[in-house]
Amino acid sequence: MGTKICTKCGKKKELSEFSFCCNRNNFRSKCKQCYQEYNERYRQKNKEKIKEKNKIYTFENKRKIKEQKKRYRQKNKEKIKKQSKKYYIKNKEKIKEQNKEQKKRYRQKNKEKIKKQKKIRHQKDKENLTSAYIANIFHTSIKNLKQYPPELIELKRIQLKVARVIKNK
Ligand SMILES: [Zn+2]
Repeated sequence: MGTKICTKCGKKKELSEFSFCCNRNNFRSKCKQCYQEYNERYRQKNKEKIKEKNKIYTFENKRKIKEQKKRYRQKNKEKIKKQSKKYYIKNKEKIKEQNKEQKKRYRQKNKEKIKKQKKIRHQKDKENLTSAYIANIFHTSIKNLKQYPPELIELKRIQLKVARVIKNK
């Protein structure tokens, strides 16, 4: 491989030290290091301008960006899965704390809604004599109910059904 002189630092460097620019079908005139420094300086100098530009672009291309993101996710499913797993392992405690906070905020914000949902769920459980309802009668959790003899649970269901029939007569 040949060498090239960087127009910025004036040093003679291997071609691999220069990025290839597809648009011009040639290597950049600045070496990678100088180009990076130049980019960084440009970013620092134009922070606000870039931010504003990005904002406008994002707003104007909402749908396009969404499509792009979707396509990227579909194409890189495995990679993303691995990355998020790695991220999760690294930030387990932080994520747990965040989730807890989020749940708490949601509960506080939607107190009435949650209350209503709970009531509806309970009503349905009662009607259908679900495991949740039976567990409640036995003052236990659904998980613990699984350790009860199935006959006992079935018997309780029949008992409740009979009581309802009698009550409705
Ligand atoms: Zn250079």
